[in-house]
Amino acid sequence: MSNHPSMNIPIARTGLTEPEIQSVLEPLRSGWLVQGPKVRDFEQAWSAFTGAEHSIAVTSCTTGLHLSLAALGFGPGDEAIVPAFTWISTANVVEHLGGSVVFADIDLATFNIDPAGLEELITPSTKAILPVHLFGLAADMEAINAVARRHGLWVVEDAACGFGSTFKGSHVGSLGNTGCFSFHPRKAITTGEGGMITTNDAQLAERLRRLRDHGAAMSDLQRHLGPRPYLLADHPEAGYNQRMTDLQAALGASQMQRADAIVAERRHLAATYDTAFADLDWLQTPAAPAGYGHGFQSYPCLFEPIQVHQALKTGNQQQLNAVHERRNAWMEELQQQGVSTRPATHAVHMLSYYRKKYELKAEQFPAAQAANDCSISLPLFHGMLADEQKHVIDVVLSRLL
Ligand SMILES: *Cc1c(COP(=O)(O)O)cnc(C)c1O
Repeated sequence: MSNHPSMNIPIARTGLTEPEIQSVLEPLRSGWLVQGPKVRDFEQAWSAFTGAEHSIAVTSCTTGLHLSLAALGFGPGDEAIVPAFTWISTANVVEHLGGSVVFADIDLATFNIDPAGLEELITPSTKAILPVHLFGLAADMEAINAVARRHGLWVVEDAACGFGSTFKGSHVGSLGNTGCFSFHPRKAITTGEGGMITTNDAQLAERLRRLRDHGAAMSDLQRHLGPRPYLLADHPEAGYNQRMTDLQAALGASQMQRADAIVAERRHLAATYDTAFADLDWLQTPAAPAGYGHGFQSYPCLFEPIQVHQALKTGNQQQLNAVHERRNAWMEELQQQGVSTRPATHAVHMLSYYRKKYELKAEQFPAAQAANDCSISLPLFHGMLADEQKHVIDVVLSRLL
């Protein structure tokens, strides 16, 4: 078994090049720091890459989700369906607008919302579904949109991890009313903090642009480029300040110049893992359903899937807990050997705010609970060296030796 005491492989690394780092200096020198020409460039590059008609840069995916629901008219008393296994902010934005979260269980094969149970969650108060393209794999948007159409619901895609993710040939983000991407450092393209909303609805795009900028009818850039730059804009509504800085956008736009290469490299790394782990029955590697293009924001696995499915079938919490303990012991072992791992993400219904507010039990969403307790993400990031990946593979394959 390999022993590299010097190897210390992080779960993710930003992989920024020197020219990308240098790009941040340009707005600092020009003096245009907030939502100016660099934000415009980044938005154009994002639309060109994703095929979305409109891209609206914001401060994070979370603020993008919040702004999307606000712009659509979601408010107090409304319900939104959210998968139980996702980052907490998919649910938090519903709370921030005075709505109620209705959790849906996931499909353990994909870690995404299970459309089969969706329709029975709908009540007269349901206004929106927030499907999540978790870890770079699109949710089943055909099934979700069909339910949404039947019941007149808005669809806001949480595409935080969705860079490079396609569904039947279309990039995610314009399959619902809006899609929201994240540029947190754990995501493939990073601006530190940052987000992008995409939509094909021109009117909605205009409202989103206003709402992110204090409700102003005209952006500062438009005003400065226009005929009377000295006059202030009107504010037809009370908006927010969710503008991206030009420093962030410069960094984002510069990474977009190699967007295709970034996606290709991440897919190649994933394929190398897939091949290496193909014979392990105790590790379920990420699903690759036909018609889905995986962006591989991360490489989420399910530990001991046979035991997990057995436990779910019989409702055996003890068996599930035993797998959970063995996963944790293995994570510790990996850490000792210089391989960082994480649970793929958390089950939001098990976090105390939601558990208490909605009086939920972990086993009410059994697949989400199992994903919370028994998933493990392995290091995957563009710029990962062949040596580093080989070390991860050697350590994983040595588990039962
Ligand atoms: C990262 C992430 C978010 C939050 O993105 P921010 O840009 O940090 O707000 C939301 N949902 C999912 C699924 C994520 O992975």
